[in-house]
Amino acid sequence: MSKNPAKKIEKLQYFGEFGGINPSISDSSTYTFLTAKSMSDTFEGNTDGCYLYSRHTSPSNLYLSQALAAMEGYESAHVTGSGMGAITGVLLQLCKSGDHIVSSRTIYGGTYAFLKNFTPGLKIETSFIDITNLKSVENAINENTKVLYCETVSNPLLEVADIKALSLLAKKHNLTLVVDNTFSPLAITPISQGADVLIHSLTKFINGSSDTIGGVVCASEEFINELKDVNSGACMLMGSTMDSFRSASILKNLRTLPIRIKQHSKNALYLAGKFEQDGIKTVYPGLKSHPSHEVYNSMCNQEFGYGGMLTIDAGSLDKANELMEMMQNENIGYLAVSLGYFKTLFSAPGTSTSSEIPEDEQKQMGLSDGLIRFSIGLDNDIESTYDDMRKCLKAVGIL
Ligand SMILES: *Cc1c(COP(=O)(O)O)cnc(C)c1O
Repeated sequence: MSKNPAKKIEKLQYFGEFGGINPSISDSSTYTFLTAKSMSDTFEGNTDGCYLYSRHTSPSNLYLSQALAAMEGYESAHVTGSGMGAITGVLLQLCKSGDHIVSSRTIYGGTYAFLKNFTPGLKIETSFIDITNLKSVENAINENTKVLYCETVSNPLLEVADIKALSLLAKKHNLTLVVDNTFSPLAITPISQGADVLIHSLTKFINGSSDTIGGVVCASEEFINELKDVNSGACMLMGSTMDSFRSASILKNLRTLPIRIKQHSKNALYLAGKFEQDGIKTVYPGLKSHPSHEVYNSMCNQEFGYGGMLTIDAGSLDKANELMEMMQNENIGYLAVSLGYFKTLFSAPGTSTSSEIPEDEQKQMGLSDGLIRFSIGLDNDIESTYDDMRKCLKAVGIL
């Protein structure tokens, strides 16, 4: 079997029931059983080959789950109605009252808010640390710690987690290493570095058309079955299920992920290099100036590059806002949160996706007011895009 994650998706072949080249969509919330006994067996957890009810799973959800499990190299996967549905399900499955989590402090704003504001009410406490400082990670671990949580490439600061080193720490202290790989599908395969459980928001690059919300958990078959357990599974019981129609459409979009990621990465590398040459403070894992450039290189599947996300510092929030409005007026991209769209998207994280993080903590972690996060699009001619961006940068006085 090829090690290439793109090849693993290509190898999967599903046909529709009439020989359609796309699998049929399961248009049912419930499923018949041929015998009453097989229904009661299924409720007792022996669901082999049987579908029960679509909150548990559906044929369409299984197709997409299998494809994502194959891409990420895990035994199994479970698709959810959103990335947050995957994250909250995993963390509440792994942690009960009295347990403790060690998490990177630069993570998606929603995940941060969940761990900071919501789980303490369930007596699950979290220590937020600088994930690139392994000493402070280890110091934060205590006897109640169950989970080590990070993003491969973090939102929005683009810090890179040394997953191999973190997995050694996790093993040493008997923790589950949970990694959110939303920013780096195909480019980094965290299981090869020892990640135990992997999460994606499918809403972003994997679906790639900004038309739906979705998520996935990839893990061992045992853990996925726990999440789906009818009596005790967090995903099953909290109901963060994906709809079959969405599974089917995301599976079709997944087919073009390899060529999209290559183009996002190529365009972002070009722009990051130009911005840096122009003297603008630029953060991109593909730049030699990125503090974790070598760590990224040690983990990545080279052909998929450094991803589509970069940040620049416009100096102040006013300048950032002025620049973003101008770039939108010039049709360079959209002033919008989210990422992975064909068109460039930009936002100021401090006042948008990371606004859940208090201002003083934002400062502490290096999240400046003028920070603009870009999700670079699939532009066919990135050089002319750069020329257009340069005009805007000049007009607002950043250049
Ligand atoms: C968007 C995002 C999430 C949340 O996903 P939703 O699909 O919006 O629920 C989680 N992690 C990261 C890194 C994200 O960018």
